[in-house]
Amino acid sequence: APKAAGKLETRKSVCTHCSVGCTVIAEVSNGVWIGQEPGWDSPFNLGSHCAKGASIREHAHGERRLKYPMKLEGGKWKRITWDQAIDEIGDQMMKIREESGPDSVYWLGSAKHSNEQAYLMRKFAAYWGTNNVDHQARICHSTTVAGVANTWGYGAMTNSYNDMLNSKAMFFIGSNAAEAHPVAMQHILKAKEQNNAPLIVCDPRFTRTAAHATEYVRFRPGTDVALIWGILYHIFENGWEDKEYIRKRVWGMDSVREEVKKWTPEETEKVTGVPGSQLHRVARTLATNKPGTLVWCMGSTQHANGNDNTRAYCVLQLALGNIGVEGGGANIFRGHDNVQGATDFGVLMDSLPGYYGLATGSWKHWARVWDTDYNYLLSRFENKEMMEAKGIPVSRWFDGVLEDKENIEQRDKVRAMVFWGHAPNSQTRGPDMKKAMEKLDLLVVVDPYPTVTAVMHGRSDNVYVLPAATQLETSGSVTASNRSLQWREKVFEPLFESKVDHEIMYLFAKKFAFDKEMFKNIKVENNEPNVEDTTLEFNKGMWTIGYTGQSPDRLKLHMANQHTFDKRTLKANGGPCDGDYYGLPWPCWGTAELKHPGTPVLYDTSKPVAEGGLCFRARFGVAAPEKWAKGNPDADNLLAVESYPEGSEIKDGYPEITYAMIDKLGWAGDLTAEERAAIEKVAGSSDPEAMGKVNWKVDMSGGLQRVAIKHGLAPFGNAKARTVVWTFPDPVPLHREPLYSPR
Ligand code: SF4
Repeated sequence: APKAAGKLETRKSVCTHCSVGCTVIAEVSNGVWIGQEPGWDSPFNLGSHCAKGASIREHAHGERRLKYPMKLEGGKWKRITWDQAIDEIGDQMMKIREESGPDSVYWLGSAKHSNEQAYLMRKFAAYWGTNNVDHQARICHSTTVAGVANTWGYGAMTNSYNDMLNSKAMFFIGSNAAEAHPVAMQHILKAKEQNNAPLIVCDPRFTRTAAHATEYVRFRPGTDVALIWGILYHIFENGWEDKEYIRKRVWGMDSVREEVKKWTPEETEKVTGVPGSQLHRVARTLATNKPGTLVWCMGSTQHANGNDNTRAYCVLQLALGNIGVEGGGANIFRGHDNVQGATDFGVLMDSLPGYYGLATGSWKHWARVWDTDYNYLLSRFENKEMMEAKGIPVSRWFDGVLEDKENIEQRDKVRAMVFWGHAPNSQTRGPDMKKAMEKLDLLVVVDPYPTVTAVMHGRSDNVYVLPAATQLETSGSVTASNRSLQWREKVFEPLFESKVDHEIMYLFAKKFAFDKEMFKNIKVENNEPNVEDTTLEFNKGMWTIGYTGQSPDRLKLHMANQHTFDKRTLKANGGPCDGDYYGLPWPCWGTAELKHPGTPVLYDTSKPVAEGGLCFRARFGVAAPEKWAKGNPDADNLLAVESYPEGSEIKDGYPEITYAMIDKLGWAGDLTAEERAAIEKVAGSSDPEAMGKVNWKVDMSGGLQRVAIKHGLAPFGNAKARTVVWTFPDPVPLHREPLYSPR
């Protein structure tokens, strides 16, 4: 690395080019970023960078960075000031809002935001009064989230990149990690070498990943489900399934067994093009080399039947007993560096942060966290119905704009689009989008670079381009694909006139006069909201998926001490914990003091069900994969997997568990006095027997945990839940401020 005269400082950051989360050591002299090294001690990249990561300094300093705000006028770009930009855009938006309601402005966010910025983006849309907010995850992995969350609870990768070193077999489908996630590939190749682990790569194309395979399976595009069913045919036919695991933890595998009987080698070959003998070999390899990991990426998800693909993969892993164990798992390689975090923080048209959904209780929960009156938030929306209804997905924002009918829904009448770190040219229906952009009243692009969005519209007026700083010019947390949070240290000051995204959000909030309400508990200095205050605020509210224990201090400590966290040494010395080794993956409950280790492996099955360490029981409803094979998109969502705690009953589509069960699981001792009093009130007595009879309704709508006390104390409730899932993801009891708080 080049050395400069004077003091050389190093700053630890995280690569922004994919979801592996490699540590970057930036060398800075006199405020100038002059060199870079890979994080030698990072458990993610173990001292390596790929070509993309090695170029982030050049990327951040790219010659084509936007230098100042600009406005398109009479076909010419004109330099303007920030004050003018915020004033003109703000005035137009308020006029549009007055004439057509808050939904007429669409806030399209980004997987390039830090967690804090993603959280503020969703919060910003809420204070503006719309659910017309979304980001890239809708296009890339929304089918994974829907498929996996509805299968066993969390819409995320179950294990970790570096956990693949524990794998005895690796099954890749729809993933070309060698090119898309190059540093993850080193863990894969290491497992192949050190464990002699077979690498099975299923892909219609022979990729660079396939070039490393011990078994390459070429199959027809879109026939993933038939392929998996064809593998399961051999597994059941030969008795290779994990019978004990299924008996203890999986309901309804019999119906899967019945379904796959139809997928004889001949039938499967007809649909997928893969010879039966090869699938027999694959099935035997998977059954005799355990634990095995299953990895997928966007080759699997960007299909009309993406949900079904991802669910079928989960079924295969459950049949093999590969979920909830080190070296196993359903492992989803995400795309952008913070697509997991932006999804977790609800930059989505159908949820508030933490997958809380949009029900009244969810709004009340977040209003409490934001220290804002619920009725104030309600007043920002057109009405309560609009507040609780889904917005428009990013893949459809333009349909309503192109529609000339008078009676079009108010929500669909988008008149102004803000593309904030999002270039939609990678989406399908580009020509439709271009036409819609021409019809908009106002188009705003916020990005470090002049993206295609800024020029693809064919307009000659009323387009604004605002220069945003990169993630290397600010600090904050970022969530890698494996659910691990890491802290990015600011490397250099924003270049030219660019501003960090959260400052731009603040300036707009100020213009719209909700800054005081929105940033009530977040310090703002020189128009820049404090990043740490933002983290601490979301720590208070993210109970559904356990973003409550990763305080800024703890995250910074983790980054500073990466080199001390060698997994074997830690285990031998009894601490700090595996979670630190992996970077505090969620769920990480509680507070900084509680030092919850995070959860490197979701659904830990190390304890027997009978000892209260149960993680899930799953029940399958079975779809008919021949429908997918025929390309019938109506086959979506036919496969449902449900799991409940031992002994719970299903009423009105929800599992119900009693206080006695809560007690047995060790949660009861953790209740606050108020919570205990609330249960006593419902039971009409403090007698343990009476309290034991209180039913707790567990609402898992959307596949996520919402725990509520029945009898009117429930802050949540969504009768529309299609699939109900209950999991015990973690042996540590839920801590303070749980969702079932009666306040
Ligand atoms: Fe960056 Fe991804 Fe390459 Fe790591 S693998 S250096 S995170 S682009």
